[in-house]
Amino acid sequence: MKDSPKSKWSVLELLNWTKEYFRRAGLAQPRLAGEILLAHVLECERIQLYTRFDQVPSATQRRAFRNLVLRAGGGEPVAYLIGRKEFYSLTFKITPGVLIPRPETEILVAEALAQLSRLTRPGSMWDVCTGSGCVGITVAVHIPNVSVLATDISPKAVALAAENAATHRVDDRLCCCVADLLDRPGDWSGPVCFDVITANPPYVADGDEVARAVLHEPALALRAGPDGMRCLEAIIRDAPQVLAQGGALLLEFGCGQADKVRDLIVAGGGFAEPRIIRDQQNIERAAVAIRSK
Ligand code: GLN
Repeated sequence: MKDSPKSKWSVLELLNWTKEYFRRAGLAQPRLAGEILLAHVLECERIQLYTRFDQVPSATQRRAFRNLVLRAGGGEPVAYLIGRKEFYSLTFKITPGVLIPRPETEILVAEALAQLSRLTRPGSMWDVCTGSGCVGITVAVHIPNVSVLATDISPKAVALAAENAATHRVDDRLCCCVADLLDRPGDWSGPVCFDVITANPPYVADGDEVARAVLHEPALALRAGPDGMRCLEAIIRDAPQVLAQGGALLLEFGCGQADKVRDLIVAGGGFAEPRIIRDQQNIERAAVAIRSK
């Protein structure tokens, strides 16, 4: 993508060139990544690019695009470059201080919605390790009377979650606080016991290799001890004390951790046998455990 004054790079040419460049750089969805970045620079919807194939972006726009393309080709996640990511059909502001929302985490939302919509009174939910706030906020958007506590050990994450909650206009029902796992924050004046706890905690083992793009995400949101179980163990241990009778613990975990998660839930004695849910890749990815006593 040389930028000489004579060059006339149309939208279509830019997309084709970038797709090939990203393919060689090993990006998972080369065409999509190019479209997202170009739409961002041209300040339009991705779909609108298709009606503008012959347009020639300005030199400034081309420079901005080239800069983003080089960074993405070098492994920086597209979501960080454009500062946002879609999750459950909502758009969330994303910074490198939080994990990028992933489609598999939508399982937690779907299960939380199912649990909370069964209640005949306003429900309550605690979203632990909230990051960008995507799980708690999405549930609050879909269930108008739920009150949500969203916590994270990272003050940067909590600030971003609060911003996302305000953008989605649920900040009157969603309280963001800094807290480690299930440590109850001092400034929470809501319910003592919750109907639902959701958590996508760090669960990658310290020594495990991660994909190149994941290297740009915060280790604090990913790493959880030699077997990746440190946070899952603590949450499973403490959850019965903060769940209402019949309340649900909804946990995301990593590939190969399902048996350990199931065993911990059963061994703790506070839950019925959990239900394990598979993600789009057919990998066991989440557990639903109902508090039994
Ligand atoms: N699913 C993420 C990954 O494999 C990890 C997320 C997490 O640790 N909560 O990159």
